[in-house]
Amino acid sequence: MSDLLSRFDALLADLDGTLYAGKEAVPGAVAAVRAAAERGVRTAYVTNNASRRPADVAAHLVELGYPATTEDVRTSSQAGAAMLAAQLPAGAKVLVLGTDALADEVALRGLTPVREAAGAVAVVHGHSPDTGWRQLAEATLAIRNGAVWVATNVDPTLPTERGPMPGNGSMVRVVQTATGMDPQVAGKPAPALILQAHRDGERSLVVGDRLDTDIEGGNAAGLPTLLVLTGVSTPRDVLEAPERQRPTYIGADLGVLSEDPGPEGWRVSDGVLSGEGSPVAALRALLAAGSGPDVRADGDQAVHALEALGLG
Ligand SMILES: [Mg+2]
Repeated sequence: MSDLLSRFDALLADLDGTLYAGKEAVPGAVAAVRAAAERGVRTAYVTNNASRRPADVAAHLVELGYPATTEDVRTSSQAGAAMLAAQLPAGAKVLVLGTDALADEVALRGLTPVREAAGAVAVVHGHSPDTGWRQLAEATLAIRNGAVWVATNVDPTLPTERGPMPGNGSMVRVVQTATGMDPQVAGKPAPALILQAHRDGERSLVVGDRLDTDIEGGNAAGLPTLLVLTGVSTPRDVLEAPERQRPTYIGADLGVLSEDPGPEGWRVSDGVLSGEGSPVAALRALLAAGSGPDVRADGDQAVHALEALGLG
């Protein structure tokens, strides 16, 4: 088959907004990942969320119907602990600002997780709903004393059922303000997490719903990317994105893996869309033409496509 999937050996897939939204699977995503597995294309589940253990993430995925094992899950906790292990001697004390799941990853890498600044030669900073002033103060003290500082991720917000809440990036900002220092970052859009999920010699496709994390991270890792429109980023965002956040491929959802995604019958000339086809194909044509969001339509089909894309 000459569909998109046939060009790859591995999908490095984001979770929230790509495979699930809260407690529900994203429509079409389970079938797409299962079909990939049947054709020998593995899926690595790559998440910036550092608060859950890989085994818990895998269990959630299996419950939703995904073919996932603990080994298939890559979290920013694992990537952050690996970054520390590459820089520190075995047994070095690492101040863990985050959950016990993060402390476990630090211990698995042969380092010693601690909860106070005394003796700590490094700080690892991941999301925990229990982080307060005392923990931030210990981290500040250790970093001012010269500790290596790694943030699992710098997402400003965390999606919750009540709306966006302060994410790890917001807490990192507190320590940045207090120390005047910047952390090394493991999670997307930095390439470290993605590169740990990628295997040399495989043709990997980075898949996600956010231009500023998944797609930028895939580009930084030097890998092709697929944006799905099932989560955060919108068609307008795509056309406003800087070069470093532009995806290689765009799909309405993961069903695009069994298609040959092109511009179909759309044409773009001087900021005017004409022709016919699906709305997402019109978006591909606009992106390929370097169009901004202020595009005009020529014909009823084009009018409808732009309306469907929120660009009307
Ligand atoms: Mg996402």
